[in-house]
Amino acid sequence: MSQYSEFEFRKQPWFDAAWFDRSNFQGFSRFIPMKTIVVHCFDPRASEIPQAVADYFGDEVYPGENILDEAGNRIGNTRTLFAVSNAGGRALSALQSVATMDYLFKVQNVVVVHHSFCGATAFEPEDLVDEFHHHHHADISTLFDHDSLAISNFEDSIKHDVRLLRDSAAVPANVKLYGFFYEINSGKLTEVVRDIPA
Ligand SMILES: [Zn+2]
Repeated sequence: MSQYSEFEFRKQPWFDAAWFDRSNFQGFSRFIPMKTIVVHCFDPRASEIPQAVADYFGDEVYPGENILDEAGNRIGNTRTLFAVSNAGGRALSALQSVATMDYLFKVQNVVVVHHSFCGATAFEPEDLVDEFHHHHHADISTLFDHDSLAISNFEDSIKHDVRLLRDSAAVPANVKLYGFFYEINSGKLTEVVRDIPA
């Protein structure tokens, strides 16, 4: 036993790793009914995006509330929609989250949202790579897919990210994908693309 190990699920006497067997899946859905992941930019002006997506779908619970046991322990939450935020709200940075959440909960929907006046529209991918090289003497040119580094056109970036998700081994083939544009001043959310498996 190492420090903090008492707080690990795998160390709990009631825990059963078989909950995650795909043949008889129960997962963590008994504690939190997660079904949708929303990928959006961490720009504070775009922080209402998860709520806007929940309102758009109409059958989501967000933000939801904690479920407590008699001792006051947080044993669950009513939220169905989890948000992943990163620079630009890009799908590339969200792949690990999608794969992990699918293992724990089974993901049904992944939603990518790009927003107006995003910082990622202020430069071209080469500007970032060149400046990094110039100032930090470090080459990041091969670290990232360049189309995921900047947003030169919202329609292209939203469609690019939905395609990236669909083509990724980290996203199960049955997951429904959506791409939206969010206008930060009006709060208007517009669906740009959807990819629903047959
Ligand atoms: Zn942004």
